[in-house]
Amino acid sequence: THSHLDDDCIFCKIIRGEIPSFKLVETDKCYSFVDIEPLSEGHSLIIPKYHAEFMHQLPDDYLTDILPIAKQIAKAAKFEQYNVLQNNGRLANQAVPHVHFHVIDKPNTSTGLGLTWKPL
Ligand code: 5GP
Ligand code: ZN
Repeated sequence: THSHLDDDCIFCKIIRGEIPSFKLVETDKCYSFVDIEPLSEGHSLIIPKYHAEFMHQLPDDYLTDILPIAKQIAKAAKFEQYNVLQNNGRLANQAVPHVHFHVIDKPNTSTGLGLTWKPL
């Protein structure tokens, strides 16, 4: 079932449960979880269950769940001002070479207050 994953990728390991994460939403095509180094207290990530470094390499059916999950996260966490963004390549600030979409509540606001994540 995980034939599209890479043995050595940290996000593929998160999907397989080999690296722990705080899971928010999981579908057959996508997995979302809380960012380990949040830019604000509501920073979370949505990733396809398909190992591709760049968005243009991803089959379309792995993209269809992404924005509905972003919306679900934003609503559940009561975000009102936030960014949904996705970086491709080092020069575009991509650090982890597995496609991921950030959902970031009011960036550069203090972390650790108020929001308690629950699985969605
Ligand atoms: P990028 O700069 O590649 O767009 O963002 C990568 C994001 O992944 C960063 O926000 C970073 O904090 C997050 N991240 C990297 N490694 C891990 C990890 O092992 N667990 C979690 N939950 N987030 C991670
Ligand atoms: Zn991967």
